[in-house]
Amino acid sequence: MSQALSTDVLIVGGGIAGLWLNARLRQQGYATILVENATLGGGQSLKSQGIIHGGAKYALHGALTGASEAIADMPRRWSEALDAQGELDLSGVRLLSAAHYLWSPGTLAGNLTSFFASKAVRGRVDQVKGEQLPPALQHPKFKGKVYRLAELVVDVPSLIARLAELAGDSLLAGQRIEPLREGDELVGLRVDGREIRAQRIVLSAGQGNAELLSALSVEQPKQQLRPLHMVLVKGESLKPLYAHCLGGGPKPRITVTSHPAADGQWVWYLGGDIAEADGVARDEAAQIKAAQKELGDLLPWVDLNDARWATLRVDRAEPAQSGLVRPDNAFLAEQGRLLVGWPTKLALSPDFSDRVLAALGRDGIQPGNAPALPELPRPPLARPVWEELLP
Ligand SMILES: Cc1cc2nc3c(=O)[nH]c(=O)nc-3n(C[C@H](O)[C@H](O)[C@H](O)COP(=O)(O)OP(=O)(O)OC[C@H]3O[C@@H](n4cnc5c(N)ncnc54)[C@H](O)[C@@H]3O)c2cc1C
Repeated sequence: MSQALSTDVLIVGGGIAGLWLNARLRQQGYATILVENATLGGGQSLKSQGIIHGGAKYALHGALTGASEAIADMPRRWSEALDAQGELDLSGVRLLSAAHYLWSPGTLAGNLTSFFASKAVRGRVDQVKGEQLPPALQHPKFKGKVYRLAELVVDVPSLIARLAELAGDSLLAGQRIEPLREGDELVGLRVDGREIRAQRIVLSAGQGNAELLSALSVEQPKQQLRPLHMVLVKGESLKPLYAHCLGGGPKPRITVTSHPAADGQWVWYLGGDIAEADGVARDEAAQIKAAQKELGDLLPWVDLNDARWATLRVDRAEPAQSGLVRPDNAFLAEQGRLLVGWPTKLALSPDFSDRVLAALGRDGIQPGNAPALPELPRPPLARPVWEELLP
């Protein structure tokens, strides 16, 4: 049987939430082990669009109540980390765009002027024109208004790779997870039969949290899944675009991000309303048709004749929503040594870590004298979805 281990904080799940937390804990001197049962980032994180929201989008449907929401501070915290000046040294992580844009097609533009002048968004949003427009919108036929949001878009594969680097020797590939108890108390986990004792155990396994909780016979918190049906399109004529296109409703009609493929072409990744309920109900062919129609209506000058298309079904994992859960903060629940949560957004991983660190501080959990780790089987990095689906 493998050697028993002990550590300060045992983390389960190597998506953005677990990896960010792991890096922060290590930086503060905590000993950690992070267990991943598949690939690092291969859950939701590498399927995300990489937008570091600051909350401006939520102001559209009135959910943003003020600067007290954690999300408002995220673009600043991420920028500092990307400049190696912040809570983590994320130098080497590629910034895809220093801004995300809101774009309202011609017919809607008038209605939105007063919204953008309103108190809710003032200071967060500036209108851009002419050469300041995103390259894909710089066309004589483009009509509508474009606003620049103080939000970033990061290249998630390079982010996950950097966080895996910061994890040092703490990563462990492991499949079978069982509780390790002393009496009634959970004192660690058994991973593929190996005992790992820890002062605290954090479940940050995204969708996997529900199954882990049930393996530990823990009933709360409950998880909910939100299915999405995303579209990818790759073509030589595509230029980078990072924008929500507004459709008049509370949700963006379409959200486009652009990702560099290994062969030098751009891949547009399409989310927003098109990927939600109606999109989920469509089969792959119908979903691609719907996206072709959207892009044809909105950006008729973009030549998509030689483009290649794919779709991706993926669920967002979140805490079951009650009136008390707000979308603009990470979620963490505690029960004895066990902490479990969902960042709810990639952007909110720093907030997820804050919550874990606050719980450790409150309980007086200090970095201990955990023995050095032996060499552990390391989980691999996941490949970008566009390389998998549109090689
Ligand atoms: C299509 C899409 C687009 C999105 N776009 C954005 C965006 O632009 N901006 C934004 O802020 N957020 C976005 N999100 C949300 C964001 O992706 C998620 O909130 C975030 O990635 C969740 O991170 P996580 O680490 O909690 O989960 P995950 O990334 O899902 O990671 C969980 C990890 O746990 C592992 N795991 C599961 N079960 C076990 C187990 N039993 N043992 C060990 N390991 C286990 C999984 O293999 C996985 O690696 C998007 C989500 C989706 C689906």
